[in-house]
Amino acid sequence: MAITYHDLYLNTSKAMGAMGIEANRLEARELICAAAGKSPEKLLQDLNLYTTDEIAATVEQMLQRRANGEPVAYIVGEWSFLGLTFDVGPQVLIPRVDTEVLAHRAIACLKGVEGNTRVLDLCAGSGCVGISIAQRFKNTRAVLVDLSDGALDLCKKNIRRHNLTGRVVHLKGDAMQAPSPALGNFDILVSNPPYIPSGDIPGLDDSVKNFEPMMALDGGDDGLDFYRAIATLWQPALKPGGRILFEVGIGQSEAVAMILLKAGYENICITRDTGKIDRVVEGMRPKEREIPDMLHDTKEET
Ligand code: GLN
Repeated sequence: MAITYHDLYLNTSKAMGAMGIEANRLEARELICAAAGKSPEKLLQDLNLYTTDEIAATVEQMLQRRANGEPVAYIVGEWSFLGLTFDVGPQVLIPRVDTEVLAHRAIACLKGVEGNTRVLDLCAGSGCVGISIAQRFKNTRAVLVDLSDGALDLCKKNIRRHNLTGRVVHLKGDAMQAPSPALGNFDILVSNPPYIPSGDIPGLDDSVKNFEPMMALDGGDDGLDFYRAIATLWQPALKPGGRILFEVGIGQSEAVAMILLKAGYENICITRDTGKIDRVVEGMRPKEREIPDMLHDTKEET
């Protein structure tokens, strides 16, 4: 029996409410928009039109997936980050609001910088961080590096989706290994690496643990493996005076700041997220110091 979009919306949000989903209305709208290929505005206009059996059946299948605990972002295949929409899938982490702080900090560092700049997004996942930065500055080129072929596939789609094929490239690479010098050097290195301590993985939310890629979450015994490796091995990929910016997990900011200090970075700075949790730790690769002439003279005399 044909029903209207309005009825489909009511039925779907009721079913989601019964599943205990708090944002049931919003999620119902997302599923119907995805199934019908409509924007939220179009859905609103079309509420009194009849939907098709096919669309109703697709929504039903989506509801089943949601009932199994799958996050809505994977079901609809896209998610928004910093006002842009990105293709996502189970190969990558769902872009998080917390991570917007990382992109904001990088954007603040590049604001007003003249001339061409280069940004490296290491462990890029969907590419949302590097792409959001490049999208804001016409003089910026970005390289998105990830080890996962599935993630690189999504990076490619998202680069195209945002018309950045001329300025943003994706590249396979392992953050735990030193980069090839052919990569050149960068003004900014941003990274949201895997940072969950291995022992904490079983305690993660089911929606994370059962659906998001383990490879993007597991940061080793203390969760800090990637910070140690990137801070040292990738330092040569930063220009002197260039900045490294990391997203960190709860309670990791001091340890990551220490890692950066030990690796020789200066001007360490920590930024909190909207929940007042330390979320981004950053530092500067020291500028090459010019040795003042006076010092040369003294040296020669002694
Ligand atoms: N923020 C993610 C979570 O809490 C983890 C992201 C990461 O390890 N980089 O699940």
